[in-house]
Order: sequence, then C-alpha cells, then structure tokens
Amino acid sequence: MNSDSLDRFLSKIEIDDKTGCWVWIAGRFKDGYGQFSCEGEVLAHRVSYLHFIGPIPEGLHVLHNCPSGDNPSCVNPYHLWLGTHRDNMEDKVRKGRQKSRAKLSLEDIDMIKHTYGSKIMQQGELAVVYGISQAQVSRIISGARW
Ligand SMILES: [Zn+2]
Repeated sequence: MNSDSLDRFLSKIEIDDKTGCWVWIAGRFKDGYGQFSCEGEVLAHRVSYLHFIGPIPEGLHVLHNCPSGDNPSCVNPYHLWLGTHRDNMEDKVRKGRQKSRAKLSLEDIDMIKHTYGSKIMQQGELAVVYGISQAQVSRIISGARW
C-alpha cells in the first residue's frame, strides 16, 4: 500500500479507546468485514495485515482476535492472526457467532457444499458450525430440499 492508499485507509477507521479496535467506518460487506480495494485485495483487514505485518501465505485466512470479542469490522493489525479455514470455523464456533443463526443463506449453502466437497470438514462438524442437524447437512450436500 503506498502512502496515498494508506491515507485513504486511515481516513476510514475510528479507534475504539476501550478495545483498541480500529473500527472500519466506510463500506462493509454483509458479514461485517470492511471493504477496501488495494492491490487485488478487497477486504480491509487483509489489506491491513499485508501492510503492517506482512504477506499472507496461500491457503491461510486472516482471522480476528479482538480483546472484547470478535469484531469483523476491526482492522487493527495487532488484533489479527493467520489461521486455516478450519481454524476460522472453529473460532466462530468458540465465539458463538453462529449461535443465533436461524436460517442459512445461499452463501452458507455454497460454503457447506464447498467445505464438505474439499474434505475440509465432516458433515458432523458442519452441523455444529452452522447450528443445524447432520441430516440437514446431508440433504444440503446431496442437493435435496433442506
Ligand atoms: Zn479489534
């Protein structure tokens, strides 16, 4: 990120005194992640990681670990860590972000099919992550009505 981009980036954050989170106040994706286009990245927290910490190895995800709990809109590089897709899912389960999920979105369905199809997780694990029954997972994967 060059200095112009950095200025633009910094103008879109607000630091939360209590948590130290750099809260993204500009456009956000539906899941709360900040939107920032820079050098092929579109996720603000990834841009932040790349700029302040360093390269993101292929296959790894930039995950949050904010002191006050998971804050997807936070771009403080010191609240970010690298993990696998599995870490990401387990992290979400641990932090209970999926607990209140009542209905699955189309993206969830795609993600379930993809995660199972690429053997990242078993049906039982997906059921826990998405807060649904294993039978539902099985129906989703087989393409049946769920
Ligand atoms: Zn944070």
